[in-house]
Amino acid sequence: MNQQMEIYKTLGISEAVYAYGETYLRQLEARFSQIDQVAEYNQLKVLSAMQKNRVSDVHFTPTTGYGYNDLGRDTLEQVYADIFHTEAALVRPQLTCGTHALAVALFSNLRPGEELLSPVGKPYDTLEEVIGIRESVGSLKEYGISYRQVDLQKDGSFDYPAIEKAIHEKTKLVTIQRSKGYQTRPTLSVAKIGELIAFIKKCKPSVICMVDNCYGEFVETIEPSDVGADLVVGSLIKNPGGGLAPIGGYICGKKEYIEQAAYRLSAPGLGKEVGASLGLNQTLYQGLFLSPTVVAGALKGAIFAANLYENLGFRVIPNSTESRHDIIQAIEFGYPEGVIAFCKGIQAAAPVDSFVEPEPWAMPGYDSDVIMAAGAFIQGSSIELSADGPIKPPYAVYFQGGLTWYHAKLGILKSLQQMVQEGLVQINPIVIN
Ligand SMILES: *Cc1c(COP(=O)(O)O)cnc(C)c1O
Repeated sequence: MNQQMEIYKTLGISEAVYAYGETYLRQLEARFSQIDQVAEYNQLKVLSAMQKNRVSDVHFTPTTGYGYNDLGRDTLEQVYADIFHTEAALVRPQLTCGTHALAVALFSNLRPGEELLSPVGKPYDTLEEVIGIRESVGSLKEYGISYRQVDLQKDGSFDYPAIEKAIHEKTKLVTIQRSKGYQTRPTLSVAKIGELIAFIKKCKPSVICMVDNCYGEFVETIEPSDVGADLVVGSLIKNPGGGLAPIGGYICGKKEYIEQAAYRLSAPGLGKEVGASLGLNQTLYQGLFLSPTVVAGALKGAIFAANLYENLGFRVIPNSTESRHDIIQAIEFGYPEGVIAFCKGIQAAAPVDSFVEPEPWAMPGYDSDVIMAAGAFIQGSSIELSADGPIKPPYAVYFQGGLTWYHAKLGILKSLQQMVQEGLVQINPIVIN
């Protein structure tokens, strides 16, 4: 028996499950090598931006209070702007999460009487309250900003005639969500987003095109800002924080829109000038530096899981061979025990709280019990290996992340082990050429 299998055994993986995993892994070599190439490209893109901006240890010096002349913060924003090829960027711990960054971008660039359009269907759950799709205090709707939505067609493509009709004199900003989030529609490739933006700009050149880039950063070699997006927005406890950023969000884009956002985040007149970095700069730089390889590990995990579970007969979204535009993997089990066993396995593989057993629970904002597995260094960080699933049909689990490929691999093998132990699936000895 080889040494590798020995150490997996001490972590509770049986020989059969290990062998099953290895068999599928051998088929994935070409895909993994493609992922590594994207990571290499993005690593160099990040490095080149850091070198161009002469990042130095002076940039790691903490500031406090107002944070005037925070050189590290201002340089980090220039590094982001160079990576995303935008005129400017706002990258701050004061942007508390992805939803906040998106809300700031929206509230700052829309005025009463104007309209927001989503041409890609319903946005991410938390945005419903920001926009006022679900009644909520302080929404855009309360400020007299209206919202219109055009759903994707059944096959996931854009409904161009309906989009053209939905754009009128009040339309000011279009929001395009790259990742599918918790929906079953496909995630949009950057190229697809580019086609959509070109169409929208043809209908109305003055409209601002914003992309919710959450979970998409560094999955491809280009970003939505390379194909015409005026604003790209995301969370630092997802991809670009590299697992190190303890908080934060980013907004990259045209200078005038970023300035608007800065005046909204702090105050009119103050803008980007204030906002102490409180000693977080070094972590934000280092996380960004690591992000391309972290994202590559997470992607390998997602593809590995898709292959294992698809071959066990479950529906997986995206499927085992589809190209990837974000790091999220969904698996439909069709019965609650599958969701629960999967999450238990992910939890048991964690570096933190591996001894905890997750259980389905009622959560605010959900209409069914939900089970969540996460043993993360940073609370709520979903670039770290994590999984969750509502206990309702189709009994799907959504999972993402993994700071290293090896951890993601262990998590997926642990989930399978749990399924096997509970008699939910059987692995037959397989022979594949
Ligand atoms: C995570 C996510 C958000 C919100 O980010 P939070 O940091 O959870 O507030 C918005 N949109 C998409 C597509 C996301 O995946």
